[in-house]
Amino acid sequence: MKVIDIIKSSSKPFASFELVPPLKGSDVSRLYAGIEPLNEFNPPFINITCHRDEVEYHQNQDGTYSKVVLAKRPGTVAIVAAIMKRFKMEVVPHVICGGASRHRIESELLDLNFLGIENIVALRGDSIPGQKYFIPEPDGHSHSSELVKQIVRLNHGNYLDFSVKNGIKTDFCIGVAAYPEKHYEAPNIETDIMHLKEKVDNGADYVITQMFFDNAVFLDFVERCRKAGIEVPIIPGLKPVSTFKQIEMLPRAFHLDIPQDFMKILAHCKTDADVYEAGIEWCVNQSRELISSGVPAIHYYTMGKADNIRQIIKKTF
Ligand code: FAD
Repeated sequence: MKVIDIIKSSSKPFASFELVPPLKGSDVSRLYAGIEPLNEFNPPFINITCHRDEVEYHQNQDGTYSKVVLAKRPGTVAIVAAIMKRFKMEVVPHVICGGASRHRIESELLDLNFLGIENIVALRGDSIPGQKYFIPEPDGHSHSSELVKQIVRLNHGNYLDFSVKNGIKTDFCIGVAAYPEKHYEAPNIETDIMHLKEKVDNGADYVITQMFFDNAVFLDFVERCRKAGIEVPIIPGLKPVSTFKQIEMLPRAFHLDIPQDFMKILAHCKTDADVYEAGIEWCVNQSRELISSGVPAIHYYTMGKADNIRQIIKKTF
């Protein structure tokens, strides 16, 4: 079932989850172990992140270096197939522009369609370490709005590969990303929202936001989006802080603020266990308030930790 139809047919807000696939070399049970604790909540769909290949330089015996391109995690198509074999839930793979040509993306979309996948989250991806700015592949997309266009074209049966005659039409429902605190590259929030609108105008069906810790920022963002003419559902993304390290890492990695009220609470924490509890409580309060404000769903970033998310769902939904 398409995410947009799940949203439209749901009589009350629901929770969805986002998982990061395990590292290459892991047993498939590791993938399942990330999903099993959340399965009791019957999530209507589960998102699986996508990770571009990484570049490493390995020293040769003569002292020179060779560039090695490495996939650090199993491929999206294999992960999706493994989840579908085990669980009865919609799997929503993320597809990124980074490191991929348009033709490679087309092949991946067709593979996913072959598996029966109906939903895609279309993203640009980030620059690789060492690159200051995102650089698309020579035949790749610079922005996710172009990827949305490509998916919509495939939905109409328009293939890049001209040798395909009367190819089937895919029927993907498309989600895109948004940033209540602005994407770090955007000069200002208005311009960022203008680009979000471009994604929606190109055919995105709904929006999922980056994590945030201040509901007022999200609600203001939604209001600005509506004023800009973005009418599709906007699903807030939440993540509970769970360690001291994350208090520093999350703002740096995701370009977001931790509000002062929350920092005051975290300042009383003495151990990681205290932070974990404070993170759950803050996220429960955020979730309850968001539900009261009328959001269609809440998307939880699990980042490999399911137990705190379970506690939050039990206290919230
Ligand atoms: P875009 O929509 O292309 O926007 C990127 C920047 O370009 C923004 O500043 C925007 O304002 C600007 N822009 C957009 N269009 C134009 C234009 N036409 N002209 C000029 N500027 C423009 N990353 C992964 O690698 N894998 C994942 O699985 C993944 N999942 C994510 C899920 C969610 C819900 C979110 C919020 C993020 C996720 N990311 C993931 C991170 C994401 O790839 C990065 O944040 C990336 O930097 C931007 O992706 P985007 O799709 O928002 O890019």
